[in-house]
Amino acid sequence: MNANRRQTAVAVVAVVLVGVLYFCIRPAPVEADSGFRLAMGTFARVVCAAPDANAAETCIKAALAEIHKVDGLMSDYKDDSEISIVNREAFGRAVAVSRPTFEVLRRAVEFSRLSGGAFDITIGPLVDLWRAAGEANRPPTEAELLAARGRVGSDKLILDANNLSVRFLVEKMRLDLGGIAKGYAIDRAAEAMIENGATGGMVDIGGDIRCFGSPAAGRDHWRIGLQDPKYARDEIGPGKPLLVLKLKNTAVATSGGYRRFALVEGKRHSHIIDTRTGQSSERLTSVTIIAPDAVTADALATAVSVLGAEKGLELVEKLPQTEAILIPSDEVETLVKTAGAEAYIK
Ligand code: AMP
Ligand code: MG
Repeated sequence: MNANRRQTAVAVVAVVLVGVLYFCIRPAPVEADSGFRLAMGTFARVVCAAPDANAAETCIKAALAEIHKVDGLMSDYKDDSEISIVNREAFGRAVAVSRPTFEVLRRAVEFSRLSGGAFDITIGPLVDLWRAAGEANRPPTEAELLAARGRVGSDKLILDANNLSVRFLVEKMRLDLGGIAKGYAIDRAAEAMIENGATGGMVDIGGDIRCFGSPAAGRDHWRIGLQDPKYARDEIGPGKPLLVLKLKNTAVATSGGYRRFALVEGKRHSHIIDTRTGQSSERLTSVTIIAPDAVTADALATAVSVLGAEKGLELVEKLPQTEAILIPSDEVETLVKTAGAEAYIK
């Protein structure tokens, strides 16, 4: 071996040794957990893995701040939110909104088109009608349904991308972002953690979840319990899990009549409504969607609840890296899945 070759060999060995040494002595990531906090009308929890405790705490704070910011912009329970202002004023004039709100509206309309109108954030008047029906314990009349349906439809919503403004074509329309805003808040919270140095994390808002990287506890994947509707008691934790999903860099959202409903004359009516009939959607007890981001998972879970098993699976099978696990209302012991869903089940 000549001198040059010997030098090269020594250098290679040195580089490898330094690499091995770094791998052995680098500090293990630390995990921080926010616990369950009230947010967006439900419970939110953020878990973060980061190189040290300070970084992990910073990430948790940044993630929670993003969730509260999205809630402040998009909640229809808050009178001063951008969506409440739009709902009060967008028939009379074009209402300017922030970029995040406009982005959610734009994506919501995309999901409306993708689902043939099954997903529709202009559903507000029908949601109100069914909420009132629950309170009065009397189903809505045909005339009330007809009037509300006349105020629903994404074709009556004008989004101006140049001015970031929103306008209604019909009086008394109402936007309801309940089927997509949690997903958006989850995505923003996960991004905030990554920007602040997280090596892994999980954001859970009301059981809709996105995770990235690895948990700190030496595991490679995040394990997410899917609630069994038969044993669902509250919105915290998986209750009695029906199955456990093994996820990495993925989002998952579950919609279902078992979670929130109006009781009218002893009959449960899901909080998810079919825009085409004005009636609540009852065919699926539980719809779980796995997708690359939480907005997609959240919106599709609501859309597939309306579409039903056959059309819903047909839609999800067409989308890349997106899977569905459904429980039909008339066969609660049966799981209906897309072809790729099995790979995520532990
Ligand atoms: P999720 O729990 O994500 O399925 O969202 C359900 C919420 O979305 C409901 O409580 C309503 O606020 C809203 N919603 C109901 N029906 C629809 C629909 N067809 N399209 C979009 N949002 C809906
Ligand atoms: Mg949803």
